[in-house]
Amino acid sequence: MAVYSMSSTVLVVEDEPAIQELIAVNLGFAGHKVLRADDAEQAQYLITAELPDLILLDWMLPGASGISLARRLRADERTRGVPLIMLTAKGEEQDKVEGLEAGADDYITKPFSPKELMARIKAVLRRRAPQLTDDRIEVSGLCLDPVTHRVTGHDQLLTVGPTEFRLLHFFMTHPERVFSRAHLLDQVWGDHVFVEERTVDVHIRRLRKALQPSGHDIHVETVRGSGYRFTFKPGKVS
Ligand code: CA
Repeated sequence: MAVYSMSSTVLVVEDEPAIQELIAVNLGFAGHKVLRADDAEQAQYLITAELPDLILLDWMLPGASGISLARRLRADERTRGVPLIMLTAKGEEQDKVEGLEAGADDYITKPFSPKELMARIKAVLRRRAPQLTDDRIEVSGLCLDPVTHRVTGHDQLLTVGPTEFRLLHFFMTHPERVFSRAHLLDQVWGDHVFVEERTVDVHIRRLRKALQPSGHDIHVETVRGSGYRFTFKPGKVS
């Protein structure tokens, strides 16, 4: 069975060609889209064009170190939430602590087996990006199943388009939080550069319409001046 309901985009930042290739091949086999960078500068360039779902970041890189890039990514609102796994030859406890303090979600010491790497990636995605896993979600009678791509409201089948499905999946796995249009474009469309922000409004309207038959449209709230929120408690001001 597929682990991910959609293929994740993974950015590999690694200057050693053999290790970069090994990782990329294994990620490719697992159905992921792979972006590759040899250093922090190239990584930053790729991230600006497309926000990855997960970043594998080598500690020792030519130029800016992996740890300094990790700190920069965590300080930037746009990249703060992207799961990050540090790769390193260092095994000392202090380095591990430093990596985690810089905001890494996990830490893998070289040499590692592809099997271990894939298991870590899966665990981090499950923890940090539940919308990328196949787990079925239910909120107040609204149920979304990533495996069958079905949405039901109080057991009534709802017709939801592919983009609205991804949007709803993201919302249901991140309830009660307000997301800007730019953030939704990054998370749901995977690209904030080539799609206009008003596109989000169009799909929010379609999503509400799709949820109307069971009355779940009220869970999708507009937060004036900020963006949108999926809430368990519609109508309550928080
Ligand atoms: Ca290296």
